[in-house]
Amino acid sequence: MDKAQLDYASLPFGYQKTDMNVRYTWRNGEWDQGIETDSEQLPLHIAASCLHYGQAAFEGLKIYETQDGRTLSFRVEDNARRMQHSARQLSMQAPSVEIFVEAVERVVKANRRFIPPYGTGAALYIRPLLLGTGARIGVAPADEYLFLVLATPVGPYFKNGFTPTKLIVEDQLVRAAPGGVGTAKAGGNYAAGMRATVKARSNGYGEALYLDATKSYIDELGAANFFGITKDNKYVTPQSESILKSITNDSLRTLAKDLGYTIEQRPVHVDELFQFVETGACGTAAVITPVESITWGQETITYLADGQPGPHCTKLYKALTDIQFGVKEDPYGWTKEIVFD
Ligand SMILES: *Cc1c(COP(=O)(O)O)cnc(C)c1O
Repeated sequence: MDKAQLDYASLPFGYQKTDMNVRYTWRNGEWDQGIETDSEQLPLHIAASCLHYGQAAFEGLKIYETQDGRTLSFRVEDNARRMQHSARQLSMQAPSVEIFVEAVERVVKANRRFIPPYGTGAALYIRPLLLGTGARIGVAPADEYLFLVLATPVGPYFKNGFTPTKLIVEDQLVRAAPGGVGTAKAGGNYAAGMRATVKARSNGYGEALYLDATKSYIDELGAANFFGITKDNKYVTPQSESILKSITNDSLRTLAKDLGYTIEQRPVHVDELFQFVETGACGTAAVITPVESITWGQETITYLADGQPGPHCTKLYKALTDIQFGVKEDPYGWTKEIVFD
């Protein structure tokens, strides 16, 4: 099959029109069979609950092409289960794991020509979206839902793929609190976080690093989890009731253990930032973003004096992407081949 004519090696992390998206509707207590459409528009009732009351959740995953031309998905069922968790948090109906996986495969198959070639560093990004579409003016769960999956080819989140970034500890705004919806990929969480990101960027930082509601412990970034490496080879990552459980972080914990690191998932006090030899942000979009420095009030802790990725992040990044792109055998059953008819 001929690939779509795109400059895959320099794709941004952004939206690019593809051939088809798939849409399932929940009505009268059940999901329908779903339809495929090339439309980029969505007809919505003006009183839809997603518009007024934020019944909206999303997911994000990538599809990878291997050197021998196979197409691999990565831990799709985990994204499906996380969407179900988000839906419960927002009183929404969620698709079953089976429908979720089927929808992803449908959209990949219909957009096969947009799967970036192996070696470009790009991948096909899949964005599942769940919306309350039923009309509601009183605050209550909608009686109708839309589950939409779109695909778009993306380059690395950061322009040069694996480039260190500077963080600033956000000590005013709180992203999420225990008992809230920080563990859900709820659209509203990201709108709420934009203020901190815009402020960080305008001050020359790549992203804000959030603390928990007590402003003592590290939570995560706006769209990525956080980890630190100690000099005695511990992979330390926050345990918190208000962070999004990153599938990338979960995968890295497994790989780090195999590479001889000790894993510690526990509350991480902000003072501990001084004890790490390297720190990183992790998520599907960027895989790992090595952290050059973290500014906390008057202090700046520099991890990468030369601005180059450190050996720990480089090793972990390679271990994960080698599995995702099928370079190394996958002993965990995370990847699944998508077979085209
Ligand atoms: C999506 C997301 C992550 C990363 O999760 P992955 O499953 O690794 O992609 C981390 N934190 C937040 C807040 C997120 O929205």
